[in-house]
Amino acid sequence: MDHFGYRQGEMYAEDVPVRDIADQVGTPFYCYSSATLERHYRVLTRAFEQQGLDLLLCYAVKANTNQAVIATLAALGSGADVVSEGELRRALKAGIPAEKIVYSGVAKTEDEMAFALKAGIYQFNVESVPELHQLSRVAEHLGLTARIAFRINPDVDALTHAKISTGKSENKFGVPWRQARGIYAEAARLPGIEVVGLDVHIGSQLTRLEPFREAFERVAGLIETLRADGHDIRRLDLGGGLGIPYDPTDQEPPHPESYAAMVKEVVGGLDCRIIIEPGRLLVGNAGILVSRVIYVKEGEERNFLIIDAAMNDLIRPSMYDAYHEIVPVREKKAEKVPYDVVGPVCETGDTFARGRRLVPMQSGDLVAIRSAGAYGAVMASTYNTRRLVPEVLVKENEFAVVRPRQSYEDLIGLDRLPDWLAQ
Ligand SMILES: *Cc1c(COP(=O)(O)O)cnc(C)c1O
Repeated sequence: MDHFGYRQGEMYAEDVPVRDIADQVGTPFYCYSSATLERHYRVLTRAFEQQGLDLLLCYAVKANTNQAVIATLAALGSGADVVSEGELRRALKAGIPAEKIVYSGVAKTEDEMAFALKAGIYQFNVESVPELHQLSRVAEHLGLTARIAFRINPDVDALTHAKISTGKSENKFGVPWRQARGIYAEAARLPGIEVVGLDVHIGSQLTRLEPFREAFERVAGLIETLRADGHDIRRLDLGGGLGIPYDPTDQEPPHPESYAAMVKEVVGGLDCRIIIEPGRLLVGNAGILVSRVIYVKEGEERNFLIIDAAMNDLIRPSMYDAYHEIVPVREKKAEKVPYDVVGPVCETGDTFARGRRLVPMQSGDLVAIRSAGAYGAVMASTYNTRRLVPEVLVKENEFAVVRPRQSYEDLIGLDRLPDWLAQ
């Protein structure tokens, strides 16, 4: 459930007409709803509470890194899952305490490790043996200890898009579960390392519970083995990945309550602190991308709705063949007609939807691309020298621009001419 609905045919973000924001901010822009963020956070944490599980929710910041979004979740008590020093800096700056931050990622550098160690983060999720040794060296050098979990690759099929599937043995992520015993034994001997847990994250936008269950069962067995080997495994990080509804005609992904019940059933008996790293689930349906129709172009075979947002603003349709619901900001009563909804970028891939049935649209009309809060603004680029679009956060009847539109000066001014060209 989100807080983008219609009143007298006009789309609102909470209590703010979307059109008013467009008038003040211009298009395109991202618009996020505080109430939706809060709702998703509470539904998820309550689901785990009801199961009596000791939970640390670490929002996977990479889904939406706007400081205002992170700060909204921080105020609710959220921790963070970060995958770079930049994200760690963002999380800390937005008010998430270091002791609620876990650090994931296959390629942490020495500098990043040192920064995170000095910040005093809760846990490193280590993804390889070379990384383990590097982390131990960096920690020892600083006179600190890194608390770690290994990210285990359970070799299960997440049944999601290939580009966001991460738990198969052919993926670059984690250490093979069959090698886990040896690797934990190695970690236990290293000076800068304290082994505290185990981590697994098998992919994103999972729409079924079975792959999670399969992975968690594998991991539960492993924890028992590792404990028998003498390791004090007291934290279990289950990653993120629970999907959200994008297409209203599809079957809904499992509800957080079913997910939490499954977690309880499979790993509840292990007496571990449970960490989860949801990204999309918290922010995906809390955001829309609002865009204006530039032209309606009647082609030979199809009609094109050319809008002012493009693949550089929201790349999910081109990159993951993702479905996003597209709706008019002003409802109309008219028979729907099919459009290819496209942006201005000079690539055929710059297509948000093909043959999408919408009420007849005209130049100047506003549309909202729904479910754009996750992996939207964060994946934007300036391709075609298009400026990064503003982000707006709504709270009840107020809204704030939480990132202004980039200026051409800022964008072009990033470049420097070498001496031999500068005259
Ligand atoms: C991307 C990512 C997440 C979040 O995934 P969602 O599908 O957005 O929930 C969590 N953990 C790790 C390690 C990730 O890489």
